[in-house]
Amino acid sequence: MNIIFFGPPAAGKGTQAKILQDKYGLQQLSTGDMLREEIAGQTALGVKMKAIMDQGRLVPDEVVIEMIANRIDSPECAKGAIFDGFPRTEAQAEALDAMLAARGKKIDYVVEMIVDFDALDARVAKRAAEEGRSDDTVETFRKRLDQYKNYSKEVLPYYQAKGLVQTIDGMAAIDAVTVQILDIIKPKAA
Ligand code: AMP
Repeated sequence: MNIIFFGPPAAGKGTQAKILQDKYGLQQLSTGDMLREEIAGQTALGVKMKAIMDQGRLVPDEVVIEMIANRIDSPECAKGAIFDGFPRTEAQAEALDAMLAARGKKIDYVVEMIVDFDALDARVAKRAAEEGRSDDTVETFRKRLDQYKNYSKEVLPYYQAKGLVQTIDGMAAIDAVTVQILDIIKPKAA
């Protein structure tokens, strides 16, 4: 079973992906996490991508497509994957479809987390203030939120045309969000 979690930053995609990973043995594949690992490891790719990410821009399609391609055949993905933060462009979505089709697989569900953008913004601003972080965090978050609004207009219609998108209330408590996701994926997960 292959699922895409679609939602803005701070919507809880990573939290929910980890819960499903533990429950069903699906592997979370987060391109954001993979990029941050490259940065932490100070690889040539990481150094190059950091500059782009710091500006709140998308990294080139071929970089993230290759990252996913490198992971998709790993044993951890045998039961399926939860794509988190990928795809973010139509080209990435097409590449993912081709990659899965070549393996006799497909995307089964696209779960869109509906959130209140203003509430999310306030949540991050509050957290930044409480943790004494610089204003940069809020600024970067707003850029990433704008980025989300733009790329969702490109990616969601691609999957809506295939009838794959199901929406959930992402503002609910963590447990309640998990219940909504399980209701969607249970038929195939059981
Ligand atoms: P995330 O943690 O998923 O919000 O990703 C952090 C940053 O990594 C994004 O703001 C982008 O700069 C970059 N990034 C992550 N995934 C992708 C993707 N699928 N396509 C392009 N850029 C990405």
